[in-house]
Amino acid sequence: MDSGPAAPVEVPRATPPADPRRALPKTDAVLSLPLMGELAATWGRPLVTEKVRRVLDEARCAVGGGGTVPSPDEIAGKVADALATLDAGRVRSVINATGVVLHTNLGRAPLSEAARAAVNAAAGYSTVEFDLATGGRGKRGATVNTLLRELSGAPGALAVNNAAAALFLALGAFARDREVIVSRGELVEIGGEFRIPSIMEAAGARLVEVGSTNRTHLADYVNAITDRTAMILVVHPSNYRIEGFTAAPPLAALVAAAREAGLPLLHDLGSGLLTGDLGDEPTLRESMAAGADLTVFSGDKLFGGPQAGIVVGDETMVQRLSRHPIARAVRIDKLTLAALEATLLSHLGGRRGELPVWRMLDAPIEELTRRADRLARSIGRRARVRDGAGMVGGGSLPVERLPSVLVELSCGPSGESAVMGALRAGETPVIVRAERGRVLVDLRTVAPEEDDVLEKALLAALP
Ligand SMILES: *Cc1c(COP(=O)(O)O)cnc(C)c1O
Repeated sequence: MDSGPAAPVEVPRATPPADPRRALPKTDAVLSLPLMGELAATWGRPLVTEKVRRVLDEARCAVGGGGTVPSPDEIAGKVADALATLDAGRVRSVINATGVVLHTNLGRAPLSEAARAAVNAAAGYSTVEFDLATGGRGKRGATVNTLLRELSGAPGALAVNNAAAALFLALGAFARDREVIVSRGELVEIGGEFRIPSIMEAAGARLVEVGSTNRTHLADYVNAITDRTAMILVVHPSNYRIEGFTAAPPLAALVAAAREAGLPLLHDLGSGLLTGDLGDEPTLRESMAAGADLTVFSGDKLFGGPQAGIVVGDETMVQRLSRHPIARAVRIDKLTLAALEATLLSHLGGRRGELPVWRMLDAPIEELTRRADRLARSIGRRARVRDGAGMVGGGSLPVERLPSVLVELSCGPSGESAVMGALRAGETPVIVRAERGRVLVDLRTVAPEEDDVLEKALLAALP
């Protein structure tokens, strides 16, 4: 930087060309523009000032490289663009018209009305760790844990931040510096950096792989048991399917083998389906009936609630988990606790239909057809109703398809990506799929009360 004091006695022999970078607007000149004032009202002056400095730095480089000198308004425009990008990245409510019910990128399970109301109520001061009857301290999650015990029939229950955290906690508490036996067919990667071998390493447990990718037998497990073994881990390979020449011992047989060796069996169930009516997705009831010592599942997959990791099983083991230091680090927050409580009440009351995930999965084809017909009529000749398929998503039932009814839209010469971009840019962003140049709208994942907003968004986005 040329910020040192000038030497007044020296007279330059020739006049050097004026540095064009000196012609750049000053930071204060840009900040005094009305647009910057408006942005500062939202984002605060320090952030806006920082952006102005950054854009000016970039302009300085560009001008140094022979570019033209931008005006204050041009600099302000770039600052506004940068802040608009930041704004677009904020968490926004969207319409999911993809037909993927548990869309991980869109937040998996949408919460029920009751769960949303509970979150709102818990958002202020609330009885997270306060006992209204005694006026003394209460235990965080006590009611949720009781409801979980009621629902599962297990004597112990604990809810933590997510299923990955629940596994980390269980491995850290029971298998640190010891061995955990897992089938080679179950070394799952869920996505988002979650891999069974990595979480095991992070928890300080040693992975002992047994069997082969497609076939693992009871004897493989039994032969791997040594005095260093801490537990047997069974993981539901939720997001892929190994088909053909395959074998895995029944869970109950593995539980018996573990018990004979005096070892616990931990079952990572994945999606938290309670009872069996969804393909061959394993259920909590089966896991309990087989006698797993601990069963772990996610709160925001087929359980239909908030992001949470639920552990149910042996009372003493769950107590040890809840007292472990890791439990404090992965504890559930008050908003999740409230939403989970409401979700549990829907399950316990036999009102699964209150949960959006189940309303969507159970939506009758006739109802979807009626809504699709109505939408297609309002859009006109660019729309056509046809049969199609969605997915459960969230790593559940990876190969099965959910029969559905689609509104297929022809997008004109600008193509499907232009229409999809316009849909994402709308006031209520709409997320859709495309196939062979056409946009597909699957109403299964759209709540009926969103139909009107969806219709307006589609009409606005189509050329
Ligand atoms: C989804 C899943 C997890 C991770 O659950 P999160 O709640 O996202 O942490 C772990 N194991 C299995 C088998 C899963 O399907």
